Amino acid sequence: MWSKWISFLTVLALASGGTAVAQQVWKVGVGRVNITPDEPMWMAGYAARDHAAEGAIHPLWIKAIALEDAGGNRGVIITADLLGFTAKMTGEIRDRLRTERGIQPGQIILNASHTHSGPVVGRKLLCIYPLDAAAENQVERMTARVVDAAVQAAGDAIDNLSPARVFAANGVCRFAVNRRNNPEAEIDGLSELKGPSDHAVPVLKITDPEGKQVRAVLFGYACHATVLSGYQWCGDYPGFAMIALEEAAPGMAALFFQGCGANQNPLPRRSVPLARQYGRELATAVQRVLEEENYARELPAELQQAYGVATIETEAVPPRETLEKIAREHGTPYMRKAAAELLAIWDRDGRLPESAEYPMHMWNIGGQPLVAFAGETVVDYALRAKKLLGKDAFVMGYCDDIMSYIPTADIIREGGYEGESSQLIYGFAAKWREDIESRICGLLVALAGEAGCHVTPDAEPIP
Ligand SMILES: [Zn+2]
Repeated sequence: MWSKWISFLTVLALASGGTAVAQQVWKVGVGRVNITPDEPMWMAGYAARDHAAEGAIHPLWIKAIALEDAGGNRGVIITADLLGFTAKMTGEIRDRLRTERGIQPGQIILNASHTHSGPVVGRKLLCIYPLDAAAENQVERMTARVVDAAVQAAGDAIDNLSPARVFAANGVCRFAVNRRNNPEAEIDGLSELKGPSDHAVPVLKITDPEGKQVRAVLFGYACHATVLSGYQWCGDYPGFAMIALEEAAPGMAALFFQGCGANQNPLPRRSVPLARQYGRELATAVQRVLEEENYARELPAELQQAYGVATIETEAVPPRETLEKIAREHGTPYMRKAAAELLAIWDRDGRLPESAEYPMHMWNIGGQPLVAFAGETVVDYALRAKKLLGKDAFVMGYCDDIMSYIPTADIIREGGYEGESSQLIYGFAAKWREDIESRICGLLVALAGEAGCHVTPDAEPIP
C-alpha cells in the first residue's frame, strides 16, 4: 500500500512540469569480484615479513559502485582490499573502461583500503620485499588479475544500475590515533591522546526507490589498515567492518574507502580480535547513520565531477655520494637496496625523478562534496579540506596512485617517516618541497569551483 502511494507521488512529481527531471531518482549499481590469491605469494606493506602468505582469514574483494544521475551522468567508485593502486594500474583500468564502457578518467575513482594483509601488486615499494624472479612473476600475474577484476566489478556495477535513492551523513568512530604524536609503545598508559585525527565516518546510503531497503552502503575512515601484520590474507579492520555490515543486512553490499589515514594507526593493534573489534566499531558507527531517523540527508539526483592533476616537486637530489653511502652503510637492508636501486636509475637515465603527477577528483553528489586525494595523504589534508568545503565533506585518500606519503608543509619541516624518511623507499632521493601543500590545496579549490561545490571564502589562506 505504502509503496503504491510512493509510486503515485512519483508520478505526480513527474507530471508537475519543469523540474520533473531533477526529481527523478538516481540509478545505482554494485559489482564485486573476489581477488583472494589462490597461491601463496608475498604480502604487501611490511618489510619485516620473511615468507609468503599462508591461507586467509577472510576473502579479499574489489568492489565497485556506479551512480547515474537524472541526466544520465555517471560516476564509478572502485574500492579494494589492497595496499594501493599504482598510476600504471589506474591507467590500464581507466583505458579499458573508456574503451569498453565509454567512461572517462574523471568519472572513475579507485581507492585502496591500504590493508597490510593483501598481496603485493604493481611495481611500487618492491625494494622492501625480498622477491626472487618467481615471486616477481607472481606479482605481475596478480597485478593483471586485479586490473581485470576492477574492470569487471565496474562493468557489473554499470550493468546493475537500477532506480535508487541516495542519502549522506557522517558518523563517528574513535579508534584512529595520530601515530606521530602518540608513541605506540606507551599507548596503554596514555590518558590523553594528541591529534590531529579525523574521526568522521562518511556514509553514502543507497536505498530502493521506496526508501525502505538499504541496498548498498559506501563508507570511509581515515586510519592505516595495520592492525594485523601476520601471514594470512585479510582486509584488516575495513574487511571486518564490511563483513559485519553485510552479515547484519543480507543482500546489502558494503564498500569501504580509506580516508587520509597516512599518519593514523589503529592503536593498540597486532591481534585478530582487535582487528575484528575495530571493524565492528566502525560497522556500528555506519549502522547508526543508516538507522537514525531524519539523520542522513537525501541527495537530489545531480552529479557534477571535476578532475585535475597537480605537479608536485622534491627538493634537489642530494650528491651521488650521499646515496652511495646509504647503499653501502645504512643499518636497514631495504634502505641500502632502495639507495642502490636509485643509483641504478641514475646510471640508466642520467637523472633521478624530482617530481610526480598528483591526480585529484572533486565530486558534487547532489550537494554533498566528495574530494579524492591521491597518495598516502596525512589527515591534516582532510581537516583542511573540511575547512574549505564544510565539515560534512567526504574525504578520500589513497586514490588512483600511491606515489609516496603526502605530508603538509608543517610535517615536512618536522621530518620523520611521513615527512622525509619514507621518500627513499618510494623512489625519491629528496623530500617534497614545502609548496606541495599549496599546490594540492590550490587544485582542490579550483576543482571545487568547477564541480559547483561551495568553498568557504574566509578559510585561512593557503600557505
Ligand atoms: Zn602506509
